[in-house]
Amino acid sequence: MDRALFGGDSGLDGDRHSRLCLVLNGATLGRDIELLDRYRDKVDLVEVRADFLAPEELSALDRFPRFLGRPAVLTVRRESDGGAFRGTEAERGALYRRGSAGDWAAVDLETDFTDRELAADLGRRGVRIIRSFHDFTGVPSDLVERVRGVAPGEIPKAAVMPRGTADVFRFLDACFRLRHREKIILGMGDFAIATRILSAKIGSAVSYCSLPAELGRIDPEAMYSVYRFPAVTRRTRLFGIIGNPIAHSFSPYIHNRGFRDLDVDAVYVPFLVDDVAAFFKIARLLGMEGFSVTLPHKSAVFPHLREADPLCRSVGACNTVIRRGRGFYGYNTDVGGFLSPLKNYFPEDRFPSLRATVVGAGGAARAAVYALADAGAKLLILNRTPRKAAALAAEIGAEAGPLDAEGFQKMEGFADLIVQTTKVGMEPDIEGDPLAGYEFKGTELVYDLVYIPRLTRLLQRALEKGCKVINGEEMLMAQAHEQFRLFTGLESTFKDSFIADFNLPVG
Ligand code: NAP
Repeated sequence: MDRALFGGDSGLDGDRHSRLCLVLNGATLGRDIELLDRYRDKVDLVEVRADFLAPEELSALDRFPRFLGRPAVLTVRRESDGGAFRGTEAERGALYRRGSAGDWAAVDLETDFTDRELAADLGRRGVRIIRSFHDFTGVPSDLVERVRGVAPGEIPKAAVMPRGTADVFRFLDACFRLRHREKIILGMGDFAIATRILSAKIGSAVSYCSLPAELGRIDPEAMYSVYRFPAVTRRTRLFGIIGNPIAHSFSPYIHNRGFRDLDVDAVYVPFLVDDVAAFFKIARLLGMEGFSVTLPHKSAVFPHLREADPLCRSVGACNTVIRRGRGFYGYNTDVGGFLSPLKNYFPEDRFPSLRATVVGAGGAARAAVYALADAGAKLLILNRTPRKAAALAAEIGAEAGPLDAEGFQKMEGFADLIVQTTKVGMEPDIEGDPLAGYEFKGTELVYDLVYIPRLTRLLQRALEKGCKVINGEEMLMAQAHEQFRLFTGLESTFKDSFIADFNLPVG
């Protein structure tokens, strides 16, 4: 058994990796082994959560490690620390003493759990003690002191819950202040997901994953296949995406695939962000080289940029940030991404005579409207809230109207191309159709920016009438391709492949 697993390895040397631990939370040893067998080649060690085991399994707990075939940590977590153990502390102590007799790599004991005899016995047998504490309410102000306060020889483990981006910064700052200490340090919750992937960068000897992926853990398959966790070290170049919400984003699949295909030592991680200024501090602290920006932060990043390129400024939206030296620079790849598939249907000299309708007046509509207006097209903008359509139309000299029968009538003169930019029709609203009531003639090119499902209700109706259609995936991939070039200076090879490759949930 590899008990040296944690020995002296703080994961902080430039090329050190962090270890991935699969949490086994089955009710029986059999279920735990079943779970482990699905991911055996993807994880380095396991944590047996005895608090989830059925009572009749507990008598054999000391024999578990020999059946698992992976270094194993024993944990009996009580309810107040997020576990399922409901007995008394005396009963928990007895279970630890009995169960830990086996060939465990480590035993996880909370900082307020004192049993000198047990500690001495584990020490004699070379079983490491992980001394843990949890804070589900936030990031404690004395995090650094609490980690430093753990006895030499024991491995401190802190699991804390950042409540927002400013908390994530405080958490990361603490990690860096503890950089020379062997430790396990974990951010829980949605705001901290990126820190789980960046375990090696923040100097945590171990990161945890589980099924179902809960409390900010990522499932083992995604950790291994999407984020290539085993390859991430402190030297790995860092990119990412900020947004709120962010869990739905496909960008991590796309860019990480690009890095893998071109053998670039880089990782791209999602950050749920509720405070853009705090995120820029994180980006500096972590040495991020660039990041994508999605809703609702595309304009909020501007005050933090040293410079934004002219396209970014005229559209008023920035979806790509690159760091050069100490400064951040803004770009917009949505506009080019939007135009890219249209070029397969219209030669450049056709755009000035093009009459097009844009449905919606939000962030995506702005990119479409600016791209088309710049190419010379005449535009009609329809929106549920007509005053927003009118405001956007006034910026570029287009016509505007409401998203109803009156607007549909206006479309008669703007129907070479119809661009749908609202989220109507997007999962889970797959029956939604923002142009319900508009009769296609069959001559329109219909471009729906929604990419889940691949064929929206609107596109199905258009196809049935003989129209040509473009879906949102083409724009998504084209803008990502451009973004990848800005990030790495390299041409990506991921175009058109990501949905099939990752078996993503699209229609
Ligand atoms: P946004 O800024 O929130 O814009 C929302 C727009 O949708 C507004 O015009 C809003 O009208 C309209 N809308 C919302 N709910 C509606 C409803 N029930 N009925 C009618 N109109 C409604 O969002 P966004 O960033 O523009 O994104 C919109 C869509 O584009 C999303 O599906 C997104 O995934 C997609 N997108 C795709 C790509 C790509 O690469 N393919 C890139 C960016 C965005 P009001 O003004 O009346 O609220």
